[in-house]
Amino acid sequence: MAMTTKTQKLIEPSDLTAIHFQCKHCSAALSVTLHKGTARIPDACPSCNATWFDPEELTKSTLKEFIEAHRRLLSDLPRAIAVRIELAPDVE
Ligand SMILES: [Zn+2]
Repeated sequence: MAMTTKTQKLIEPSDLTAIHFQCKHCSAALSVTLHKGTARIPDACPSCNATWFDPEELTKSTLKEFIEAHRRLLSDLPRAIAVRIELAPDVE
């Protein structure tokens, strides 16, 4: 295995706390807390009412699956190993 001087930025699953949404029309922002399971994700911007999720697209259900998978992961982490998520090197 090669030596590396790269600094790995690792986070634990519990370090993920919320998904942040920002409206591209009016810049209004909303954080949906991950721990609340399938938290309410609005279909439209609470500020300007722009459509955030087209019912024809799968984006919102994919996000809900992500939130649910994260919740299941937190409650079912393996005991023998630490599971961490690596961030891209340019993430501050
Ligand atoms: Zn908006």
